[in-house]
Amino acid sequence: MATILIVEDEAAIADTLVYALQAEGFVTRWSTLGGEALALLEREVCDLVILDVGLPDISGFEACKRLRRFSEVPVMFLTARNDEIDRVVGLEIGADDYVVKPFSPREVAARVKAILKRVTPREPVARPGEGPFHLDSERVRIAYHGQPLSLTRLEFQLLQCLLGQPERVFSREQLLDAIGVPVDAGYERNIDSHIKSLRAKLRQVAAHAEPIQTHRGLGYSLRLE
Ligand code: CA
Repeated sequence: MATILIVEDEAAIADTLVYALQAEGFVTRWSTLGGEALALLEREVCDLVILDVGLPDISGFEACKRLRRFSEVPVMFLTARNDEIDRVVGLEIGADDYVVKPFSPREVAARVKAILKRVTPREPVARPGEGPFHLDSERVRIAYHGQPLSLTRLEFQLLQCLLGQPERVFSREQLLDAIGVPVDAGYERNIDSHIKSLRAKLRQVAAHAEPIQTHRGLGYSLRLE
């Protein structure tokens, strides 16, 4: 089921959205601050973000701008004022849709469904050479043995990199490079902890497969069963 992040500082409004979306079977997350929402989106994959323009810390516009630096997740704006609507409609910030307050929560839920339908490919494209993995780079998702993995952004990038060239041994520096982290001594060991948590998530799907191989003194590779 799709996860929807609601970024809205007014609890009463957020509540009605949570209720309407959960009634449609969506999983919801709620954040009251733009900065907090961005931090969450860096760690976890959400399928759609409902973003209030008037937030207490940074504006919804600014939050969306920062979000677009690392994610293409669909964004629906909640706007209250005409001048906000003009900016959203002007599409200078890459929104997928907007609703004007006061709104009907059921209408919002219907629009969320419509957007997700638009961005979800109808037929999953089976690609040779991925073995038990299925990479959906548009939705930033990887399935393993048909089961979608719940990955952090870094875990996704690491696995995507390994999947790009199965059997190739990647050094820690190469993996850091692939995930866009500047190589410095402190971070190198962090790769190991991300690999460790990635392995744990894979093990939850297939307990003994261990597709990620450690090459001592060299790095890691991915073995396709
Ligand atoms: Ca607000």
